Amino acid sequence: MTDKQAQASVKKAHTQQAYSIEQWSQIETVLLDMDGTLLDLHFDNYFWLQLMPAKYAELYGVDHAEAHQVLKQVSDDVYGTLNWYCLDYWSELLSMPVAELKQDIIEKVQYRPHVKDFLKMLKQQGKRAIIVTNAHRDSVNLKMAHTGLDKLVDRIISSHDYQEPKESQAFWQHLQQDEPFEIENTLLIDDSQAVLKSAKTWGFKHLLTIFHPDSQKVPNTDSQHPGIHHFDELLHEKDAHKDDEG
Ligand SMILES: [Mg+2]
Repeated sequence: MTDKQAQASVKKAHTQQAYSIEQWSQIETVLLDMDGTLLDLHFDNYFWLQLMPAKYAELYGVDHAEAHQVLKQVSDDVYGTLNWYCLDYWSELLSMPVAELKQDIIEKVQYRPHVKDFLKMLKQQGKRAIIVTNAHRDSVNLKMAHTGLDKLVDRIISSHDYQEPKESQAFWQHLQQDEPFEIENTLLIDDSQAVLKSAKTWGFKHLLTIFHPDSQKVPNTDSQHPGIHHFDELLHEKDAHKDDEG
């Protein structure tokens, strides 16, 4: 495929709906990641790549480059483990109040485009919407308090509840026992390739990634899994309106 063809196919994919109405009608449960899927990943990227290095540099009297290097090294050491997502771990390791610092830039926590409409449509169609996130409960709570996202879904599960990250097979086993779902009619949407790979290994058949998790960065369609840029590609307006009118 030439670059031009690839661009055309991306454009086509962007303007078409990801599921036909018939395919979509078979989905009964939608498992949704939080950061980078429902909420703009810009908050998290800004927090960890800009605010935290700046605060670390200030606290320990080092320059920004050194602060960045220290945080990157620690991050690389625990990447993909539950500690990477654990605010308590970071707070203790760095002697910094991580949850409090997040609160300082809370206005950067924003919905991704069309998320509210999509979640309202799921409710209208009687589909179960569950957030499954690797985020720590403190982080979940502060984001819910700011956005009201918790009111738009049926349940929120943090991988910290099971002490296993979504990258681990054990997470899905815990989830299946805690929240029974039929693999044939359950869709998982997540911006993490590692999480989608883990879910596919476990047996998920319906997987979608997000090509544009951070509003401040260019979209990335380099994915092992099908994906969407935004949730308007999953909106079935006709169905939603029919319910409205009926
Ligand atoms: Mg994510």
